[in-house]
Amino acid sequence: VLTRTPLIAGNWKMNLDHLQAIAFVQKLAWSLDDAKHDFDAVEVAVFPPFTDLRSVQTLVSADKLSLAYGGQDISQHESGAYTGEISGAFLAQLDTKYVIIGHSERRTLHGETDEIVAAKTKAAIGHGIVPIVCVGETSDDLEKFGPSAVPVAQLKVALEGLKPGADMVVAYEPVWAIGSGQAATPEQAQTVCAALRAVVSEALGADAAAATRILYGGSVKSGNIAGFMREPDVDGALVGGASLDVAEFAAIVRYQK
Ligand code: PEP
Repeated sequence: VLTRTPLIAGNWKMNLDHLQAIAFVQKLAWSLDDAKHDFDAVEVAVFPPFTDLRSVQTLVSADKLSLAYGGQDISQHESGAYTGEISGAFLAQLDTKYVIIGHSERRTLHGETDEIVAAKTKAAIGHGIVPIVCVGETSDDLEKFGPSAVPVAQLKVALEGLKPGADMVVAYEPVWAIGSGQAATPEQAQTVCAALRAVVSEALGADAAAATRILYGGSVKSGNIAGFMREPDVDGALVGGASLDVAEFAAIVRYQK
């Protein structure tokens, strides 16, 4: 049986400058080291602002940390006249393993469409960076269309034209649960994550569906993570607010303890 390694991912959003990032990553590494965390059993990744990535890379390589890291966004373009954008080539050069794509804040505040999300997903894979494709419905969507319709439609577009074989992560993040303190129930998360796995299966085949990790995100804390992780189609969490506190994030990572 194919087993998916759970992934706990901390999205810092626009928090922690590069000096704070160094201190945070050191403390997190010490904390998990003290707890003898098995990174092969539960993978851990942090997503600092772009300006922190070089510092995080330096620290991770110097101290040989098992912590992964990634960018919070990627340009769909290779290079050129795109002021403020960051190319996948630059991210790959900093050994970023992952990149978050289509976070609800990018979609609502920066007008990212499903088509842009699809182009960014291709760009990431083209650079050997694992995309974490975020999908999720608003509370209005939930009322009008039910739980799975909008995230399923978003993911279908994001996967268009992809070939099976590339490592990929999907994050189900109901917009109403992000930063609201009102997490989905484990049952709600399971329902949508199972529907998303079916989308991956239809688009890329059963093997890809079995290998793809699907995360839940939205007000995850140390007190509710275990419930999500018990669900068969929830393979980890994308954590916002609670990822900014070392002890709290380390407790989420150690949800089995
Ligand atoms: C997020 O922004 O990805 C997120 C899940 O935020 P929070 O954990 O704060 O709800």
